[in-house]
Amino acid sequence: DAPVVASASAPVEKSYIMIKPDGVQRGLVGEVIGRFERKGFKLVGLKMFRCPRQLAEEHYGELKDRPFFPKLVDYITSGPVVCMVWEGDGVVASARKLIGKTDPLEADPGTIRGDLGLHKGRNVVHGSDSPENGLRETGEEELITEGMNVSVTANPLR
Ligand code: UDP
Repeated sequence: DAPVVASASAPVEKSYIMIKPDGVQRGLVGEVIGRFERKGFKLVGLKMFRCPRQLAEEHYGELKDRPFFPKLVDYITSGPVVCMVWEGDGVVASARKLIGKTDPLEADPGTIRGDLGLHKGRNVVHGSDSPENGLRETGEEELITEGMNVSVTANPLR
């Protein structure tokens, strides 16, 4: 049989998912990763690191005029984060559903923020808000290891 080759014109959709310092500090790394794994998306990059101030300011650049911006940058740079790239058709919108609304008090039960958080300034996890931002954010983190070939076992139809 001929191998199935992905179309060159349609790059696979990627979402940049980051477990924020509160999630790491509270021991929720396994819980968050488990939810994405159980959903069936493909993990193609992962690292733990301390986000430098300049990168945090770039990452949240769209929010630089909001009053909470300085505190947001302080928080994101306050401890290690876990950065991941998850791949699959529709992963950006689906990840946003799994994560839930920005304010954990408004997020539905069953979502990560709804189940695990209390405050919008400590909301456990970040997820890209569009496929374009997914590519931008995963690119800026240099997360995907060259030549790494992760086999998909969670969802053989994808
Ligand atoms: N944030 C905050 N206070 C606010 C709104 C947002 O601290 O009133 C933080 C929060 O951590 C949020 C991040 O800023 O996750 C980015 O805000 P955005 O509106 O993009 O929310 P998200 O896409 O993360 O749900």
